[in-house]
Parts: sequence; structure tokens; C-alpha cells
Amino acid sequence: MRKLILVMLIWSWVFDVAAAQADASKRCEMCGAEIEGVYYTFQKDGTTVIVCSECTQSLARCEMCGIPVRNTRSGQTGVFCHSCLLKAKKCAVCGRPLAGKYYADNHNRVYCPECYQNADRCAVCNDILRPGEWRRINNQLVCDTCARIQPRCHGCGAIIVGPVSSYIGYDGESFCQQCVKNSPSCISCLRPCGPHPVRMKNGNCLCRDCATTAIRDANQLESIVTQVARHLETGLLMTINHHVSFKLVDIIDYDRASNQYRESGRFIQVGDDFTVKILLGLSRPLCIETVAHELAHAWQAENCPHLPNDELIEGFAQWVAAHTLSRFGYRSLIDRLGEREDVYGRGYRRMIEMERSLGFNGVFRELIRLGNPPR
Ligand SMILES: [Zn+2]
Ligand SMILES: [Zn+2]
Ligand SMILES: [Zn+2]
Ligand SMILES: [Zn+2]
Ligand SMILES: [Zn+2]
Ligand SMILES: [Zn+2]
Ligand SMILES: [Zn+2]
Repeated sequence: MRKLILVMLIWSWVFDVAAAQADASKRCEMCGAEIEGVYYTFQKDGTTVIVCSECTQSLARCEMCGIPVRNTRSGQTGVFCHSCLLKAKKCAVCGRPLAGKYYADNHNRVYCPECYQNADRCAVCNDILRPGEWRRINNQLVCDTCARIQPRCHGCGAIIVGPVSSYIGYDGESFCQQCVKNSPSCISCLRPCGPHPVRMKNGNCLCRDCATTAIRDANQLESIVTQVARHLETGLLMTINHHVSFKLVDIIDYDRASNQYRESGRFIQVGDDFTVKILLGLSRPLCIETVAHELAHAWQAENCPHLPNDELIEGFAQWVAAHTLSRFGYRSLIDRLGEREDVYGRGYRRMIEMERSLGFNGVFRELIRLGNPPR
């Protein structure tokens, strides 16, 4: 009988090596063979595991506790004994137990190297997508968190990845760059139509919002003209004595280059003939705004025909349009008027100032004074 004592330190485990006389009652817990000669004991969860010399040398060792492992499953990142397998950290994507090199994210989730390199990632935040925690939205893979918080494009419904475009007067309605660049502009609101524009007979496109209320025929227009004219008379005390004939037209003057402020209406005076052209397809609120604006020009023609500059002429018409939008419950659209950088915007801001210093009625008195210079 030889006495053999080995102390080995492999990884971070310790095992006892005992040389003991072969004992008929001892069997190797790996191969089941009766122990003859040298055998090894390993301490595992407070119990002693007996392994024959051959198994100790031939079997792979558990990556965590170091004891020999009988059945090593393929496809694992490492070798684990049963109890360590239960305790091991698992890859958040494939679920395999992790040993050796693995990756952790900011939320303490861990990933095996393969998943870390190859798994699909969220199109918005680039986080690794974990099973059951993502969705496909318009062919984009997006994590649940981003799906909850990231704005959706008002045009195509997709979660917006990258820059968000929004438009004054339309709060909370954002657009993706895909829609901004690749979809036609709505002839009414000038915002992107998205992938499903409503095409009118004249070829112009409407967004789905504007399409629901778009003014497409003379009867619809007449009804709006009647309502707006009544408001001007009763609300703003603006009486227009001439008959004004309204016409719906396909185009007035459309600046395709800027695509910014296409004309939606025009007042034309030939002697006592007052005509207003209105762009076909304007949404109800934008049609109300435009009709009010053009009727304001008709009022100017009668009451202050010699206004010295366009800022006063267009500014007043925008100011009347703003009051009308407010009266009809479309307050959110008014901000657009003050944001413009052209003569319309400058003129409107000038009218707001004038109203502040002279009061509401003072604006009309001042316009009449400026538009009727002494000869
Ligand atoms: Zn054995
Ligand atoms: Zn183990
Ligand atoms: Zn994995
Ligand atoms: Zn995300
Ligand atoms: Zn879009
Ligand atoms: Zn529109
Ligand atoms: Zn005008």
C-alpha cells in the first residue's frame, strides 16, 4: 500500500486526493467501476465525490467547481456539472450557460460571445434584442423599450429611427426622414403624405388627415365662405358690400423649389369685380383660414385701398385669418402664421404689435387711416 497525497489547484477549485486502499464497497461515481488502487475525492456541496484515477484523468472538468463531469453536452460554451449548470449565468439571448469570456450590458444582462457579435440589435438604441422583448415594426426590429418611448412617424407609422421632423401647428405629429424625403407633400398642409397619399384627379396629393376634410367641390366651398363671411361680419364687424365670387382652382402659384408657402388663395379685383381663387383640396381648417385671408383683401379693397406696403396688406389678412381660426376652434394652426419669415409672417407680427398697442378696434381704425391717405 502506498500513501499518495496530491494537492492540486486548478481554476479555483480544490479537490482532495486520497490514496486509500481499494475498498470493495467504493465505486467511482463517474464510471461506476469498483475502485482499485488510487482514487480521488472531490468536495462538492458538502459531500464527498469519489472518482477513479482513470476518470479523474480522462473526464473534462466543470468550469465552475472543477470536478470531473460525466456527460458533457455539446453546444455549450463550457463544461458544467449539473449543480453548477443550474447556478451558472445564462446568455440573455440563447440561454446557454456562460463560462470564460462573456459580455455584460449596462443593465447587468450577460451574453455569450457569439450572441454578442451576431444577435440582431434594436434599430433605434442598438441594444441586443432578447427573446420576447422586441417587435418588428414596418420591417424594423425594435426593442420593447424603444417601441414604447420612441415617436412613431405620422406618415408611415414606423418607429422613427434617426432625425425626427415636426411641423409648426401640428404638435405631437412627427415624421421620419424616409417620408420627408420620399413621399409627396400634401397640397393642403405641405407635410409629407407618407407611403399612401390620396391622389386627387388633378394629380395633387393629400395626406390622410387633410383628405378627410378636403374641400373638393363648389358646394363645400360655398358653405365655408358663408360661415366665414358671417363670422367676419358679426365677430370682426367687417362688412363687405361687393359680391365676391369664389372659384376652386387646381393651382394658383406653387413654388416647387421651396415647396414652402404655395399660395392657397388669391383675391383678384378688376374694377368692381371681386373674385377669389381657392386651391382645390385644402382641408377644412386651411380653407377657412384662406377664405378669411382673401375676404380680408376684399374688405381692404373697399375700406383701405391705398395701404402703403405689402406688410400691412398681407399682415392684416393673416391677422383676420388668425382670429377666424380661433373662432372656428383651430387655435393650434395659428402659430404657423407667426413663424413665417416672409412678408406674411413679418406683417402678421406687426399686426399683433398693433393690436397690443391700439387694441382690437384700433387695428381697423389704423388700417383705414393708413389706407386712405389725404390727397
Ligand atoms: Zn471512473
Ligand atoms: Zn460544477
Ligand atoms: Zn448566447
Ligand atoms: Zn431599443
Ligand atoms: Zn414615415
Ligand atoms: Zn395634409
Ligand atoms: Zn394675401
